[in-house]
Amino acid sequence: MDNVLPKDIYQRFQRTQRNTENVIKAAPLGICITNPQGYLEMVNPAYCDFYGYREEELLGQHFTIVVPEAHRATLSDLHGLFINGEEIQELRQEWEVRCKNGEVRTIIAEAARIEGDDGQPRKVTFIVDITQRKQLEERLKQANDRLEHLAHHDELTGILNRRAGLQCLEQELKRSSRYGSPLSVAMFDLDNFKAINDTHGHGVGDQILEEVTATVNQTLRETDIQIRLGGEEFLIIMPEVNAEDAQIAMERVRRVVGQTSFTRQALTVTLSAGVASYVEASTTRLLDHADKAMYQAKQSGRDRVVVASSM
Ligand code: GH3
Ligand code: MG
Ligand code: MG
Repeated sequence: MDNVLPKDIYQRFQRTQRNTENVIKAAPLGICITNPQGYLEMVNPAYCDFYGYREEELLGQHFTIVVPEAHRATLSDLHGLFINGEEIQELRQEWEVRCKNGEVRTIIAEAARIEGDDGQPRKVTFIVDITQRKQLEERLKQANDRLEHLAHHDELTGILNRRAGLQCLEQELKRSSRYGSPLSVAMFDLDNFKAINDTHGHGVGDQILEEVTATVNQTLRETDIQIRLGGEEFLIIMPEVNAEDAQIAMERVRRVVGQTSFTRQALTVTLSAGVASYVEASTTRLLDHADKAMYQAKQSGRDRVVVASSM
């Protein structure tokens, strides 16, 4: 550098400055510079393209021109804090922004505080459009939620399926054995359901299953859990409920279902139920008792509730 003339240095400086400007112009990501008050001093072509404004429409405007109304005050405050702040030199945030045509998009904005030629601070912001990624993430999340729901719920009736229901019973049983609280279950099966299918068709049978499920749910307490074990066989878990109260609840369910007309054909259906209460920490034993009681209900003429302990 010893024998470089001041003129050469100036030319080199000019070239470097032009290079820097060209890099900023050619950058595929939007870049803007705002003054301490938040007014736009520089916007590159990618920035203009992204928001759909021409350069002259943006220069001199407050940067919140691209921010939805609801977030303008917050972002203005943040800008002020960032410009004046001494500690944070960089800021990376996700924002919703609004383009000239009103379209709302999501960006990641990375900001850095720099010093302008006047010695005043400036904020330079780099923006990356992540709208598509956000939409994909949202769709993926919805698909996952749907899969998660399908894995645990019965498609026809929307209530818990067998696997999830039995897991739930396992947990309730643990809880009741830990706290010594009562727990009852009721297993029920619709009576002569095959005949309904044979007479009215499978579609009507399905409709009845859906409507019966809803009726039973409305008749039960909030804390009771209804599960479709399979076909036209269901299980109800009644936490904190002893055998007598479970019998009363199940009698009410039986009565309400028996008195309701289902489908447009106003069909009626009855059910047989077996109630069992917590004896020991074993789901299989509890279910076995309920199943035997239900069998008893079928054997003794259907449309009734039998309690396991009273057998
Ligand atoms: P019971 O009183 O002894 O229970 O007589 P049932 O006819 O209900 O019993 P069975 O076990 O002989 O038959 C159950 C019938 O339930 C068989 C089938 O036609 C019907 N079913 C089982 N699952 C479904 C289903 O998902 N949809 C419809 N529509 N019918 C079903
Ligand atoms: Mg049946
Ligand atoms: Mg059955």
